[in-house]
Amino acid sequence: MTDSDLNRGKIKILLQQMNRMRQRAQSHSRPAEPQGDTLSAKSQAVVERKRLEEALRASEDNCCRLAELFPGLIGVQVKDRLASVNAAGAKLLGAASQEQLIGRSVTDFAHPDCREALAEQIRQVREQGAESPLVEEKWVRLDEAVIDVEVAAVPFSYQGQPAVQIVARDLTLRKQAEAALRESRERHRRFVELSLDLIGVETARTTELRAARRRAEEADRLKSRMLSTVSHELRTPLTSIRGQITTLLDYAEHIDLEQQLEILRLADSEAARLDELLSHLLDMSRLEAGMLRVEPVATDLLPVLQEAVTLIAAQAPSHAIVADLPATLPLAQADRRRVMQVMSNLLSNAVKFSPPGTTVTVSADVYPATIVIHVRDQGLGIASENLPFIFDRFYRVEEYQVRTSGVGLGLAISKGLVEAMGGQIGVESRVGQGSVFSFSLQRTQGVKDGDIYAHSGH
Ligand code: ADP
Repeated sequence: MTDSDLNRGKIKILLQQMNRMRQRAQSHSRPAEPQGDTLSAKSQAVVERKRLEEALRASEDNCCRLAELFPGLIGVQVKDRLASVNAAGAKLLGAASQEQLIGRSVTDFAHPDCREALAEQIRQVREQGAESPLVEEKWVRLDEAVIDVEVAAVPFSYQGQPAVQIVARDLTLRKQAEAALRESRERHRRFVELSLDLIGVETARTTELRAARRRAEEADRLKSRMLSTVSHELRTPLTSIRGQITTLLDYAEHIDLEQQLEILRLADSEAARLDELLSHLLDMSRLEAGMLRVEPVATDLLPVLQEAVTLIAAQAPSHAIVADLPATLPLAQADRRRVMQVMSNLLSNAVKFSPPGTTVTVSADVYPATIVIHVRDQGLGIASENLPFIFDRFYRVEEYQVRTSGVGLGLAISKGLVEAMGGQIGVESRVGQGSVFSFSLQRTQGVKDGDIYAHSGH
């Protein structure tokens, strides 16, 4: 039960008590008629009347005392005019004295918005003889201050006349407390919201910091991976070259010319490996610095692809390198030298990661806006969990590292080159079945197919 419910209960009890007192007093105030015309009967009636008048006064005094004790307004309206009002009522309405209010109607004090409702409340009590429920209204005091009040009205009888008793309680303090409570709740809600926002910002900042730390850790890992791979990849051919030179220096007189040539060829291929490694490193650093020059122009890809196939086929006699290409291809925006570089990376990987005797196929698909080149092998394939990293710098599938040389830059460079020419690169692979590396290049727009021949063969 709330404070307001308690107060409503109190007001109701008070009204009932006062009403009962009045009714009792008034029923006593009708003395019985004397039975006989005797003197004793007359004097008995006078005595009885006096006693009853005493009782009525006492009851009215009680009523008044009770009304004076009540902290709100208690007023009695007879014919729409206040016939009595307690001191607290005068204070509530801002009057200097109770007398100042006598003869006025409480409806005069109702705020214009509530005046109709109050008049109706009083009219119903008067006509139906039933008490009205408590109603919250706004009243305007004599000093024009607007106050919130809670008003009840009950039927009453005043000095033998039908009347309406009005009880009103000032709710200003309660309303102020409620408003303060609402405001404090609102402030608390805003504070909670702000705190949540701040926590959100803090969380975002923490996430950002974590991401930055992860990036820094990843860069560190990459650096150490790069250092160990690069130094290993540099040392292996260097050691081999030094070994071959030492052999030649020490045993040149004891071995025939053919053997000496074989040693020199081995040294040459190791030097080529070194050269390739160094140019990969150089390309990678240029790509990262945005300094790798790529100049895509309208290019016939057919001779470029055929040349790449022929070159690798000569270097890898252990594999069948097949060009499964159409008779003609539309022009594409490409840098011929860079396409060669990409093809050489993809083809040498296809050979490197496939067993001897298998086939590597180069094919091309023509789409309205692009030409897509595929390099398909029948090799080891790449497990799906490794695929997302395959184009990362220095990434090499661990199981194949022992078997093959390389630093894990070929695919990263190829990706950089293809993207610089406006294309995309991707891979599909199944372990044990082989891989298909594909890259796209933009078709040259606004050029007729016949123009191909003008550009081909350079
Ligand atoms: P590298 O060949 O020097 O290791 P790449 O960047 O060319 O570097 O290739 C990265 C890794 O991707 C290789 O080490 C290998 O694990 C994997 N990979 C590339 N091509 C193939 C392929 N055709 N088949 C299977 N694995 C491949």
